[in-house]
Amino acid sequence: MASINRFMAQILGFRGWVVTGHRWEGSDGVAQEPAGWGPVAAGTRLVVQVARTWVGRCAHCGALCRKAHEQLKPRRWIDLPWGDHPVQLEYAPVRLACSKCGTRAVELLPWADRYQRETKRFQQTIALEASSMPLSHVAARHGIDWHTAQRAEKSALQRWQSSRPPIELTMVGIDEKYLGRRHSFSDKYVTIVSNLATGEPIWIGFGRAKATVKEWLATLTEEQKAAIKLFSMDMHGPFKAAIRDEAKLEHAAIVHDPFHVMKRASEAVDELRRQVFFRNGPEMRALGRGKRWLFKRAWANCSPAQKEELAKLLRLNGKLARAYQLVEQLRDVLSAPDEITMFKGLMNVLRRTERRDNEPMRKLHESIDRHFTEILALGKYRPPTGRVEALNNNWETQVRLGRGYRDLDHLLLKLRFAIANPIRAEGGVLRFLALGLPVPDRKAA
Ligand SMILES: [Zn+2]
Repeated sequence: MASINRFMAQILGFRGWVVTGHRWEGSDGVAQEPAGWGPVAAGTRLVVQVARTWVGRCAHCGALCRKAHEQLKPRRWIDLPWGDHPVQLEYAPVRLACSKCGTRAVELLPWADRYQRETKRFQQTIALEASSMPLSHVAARHGIDWHTAQRAEKSALQRWQSSRPPIELTMVGIDEKYLGRRHSFSDKYVTIVSNLATGEPIWIGFGRAKATVKEWLATLTEEQKAAIKLFSMDMHGPFKAAIRDEAKLEHAAIVHDPFHVMKRASEAVDELRRQVFFRNGPEMRALGRGKRWLFKRAWANCSPAQKEELAKLLRLNGKLARAYQLVEQLRDVLSAPDEITMFKGLMNVLRRTERRDNEPMRKLHESIDRHFTEILALGKYRPPTGRVEALNNNWETQVRLGRGYRDLDHLLLKLRFAIANPIRAEGGVLRFLALGLPVPDRKAA
């Protein structure tokens, strides 16, 4: 028996901890005695009893502590499975009377954080699997319920987040996101604040009002506000108003990101396309049906066949052709290398959209005119707005996987994890799985 225990302690891998016994249990918790030498039925649970050989440590201050305050009842932690067998660790912890910090905290355990029912490495495994699988599948795979899996994932992601060095925030993206239809919140939108330098979201809150942004601003210190140089946002008024209301952010520039400007522009073309093809009799309607995506695509991204088709449709209506050309021109202008080129380009676009008989283009004209300063600021500051696209893609994925968005803190952690992507290579996977675990003994290695 002694050699089995020693062997099991070696596999368990926590220095200063020994295995004092083990037993088999059915899923109902009833002890099972395997007969003979044959394998134990798959799914039978292995309970490993452990004991401490060294002096305990205070979980509050980390000091060694000899004095026990109270012996607690045995507890269990779900650990990584062994073959077909779920494994649980069993230990009766001690509430210590710490002479250094004076608290009466339950002793520090190397395998789990306080109040957790799973080991750290098990929680990290759950989080790793949940990064590419719906949580319900992960829960089913490990025979735990959905809420347990969700809490385990969140703990692991929080551990990861707290292990990262803080990054100074200098360029901020503020964007609104639609939550989808499948929920019962009063707010259909959330506001996501992200770090433009990394593309990583840093804050998320319900709603898309001025008050939502103010809620985030309230979490910043004066130094943090002073470090921010630029805000990139869509043309949604309340976001800008919230920033301009803040005296400590007077120095920060506001930029409208090019995606949203282009979105307005292609909406204008779409409106015109509908006027041309759908309000002009059945023949035109037949020609224009199902071509919405074609008009939305940048000319440079069209295949030769698509270009030919588009050119054919544009020949049918001069107004529409001019509008399409203008949007292409605007796309070019928005990527101008400097402020002066952009200024000239924008003025040209404004001149060409001014005519009042073309209502959708006139609306675009007014929109560009109203936001001229913020669009022009694009040429001056050239913020790296491209990185936010990764966030948009991950957002779609997370919302499609569903349910993650019931808990916004959890959703934020999931998005940060997906974008920082610390597990893209083998080394990263190993580092993530070993988060918070005691460093192995150098002598043993
Ligand atoms: Zn202490």
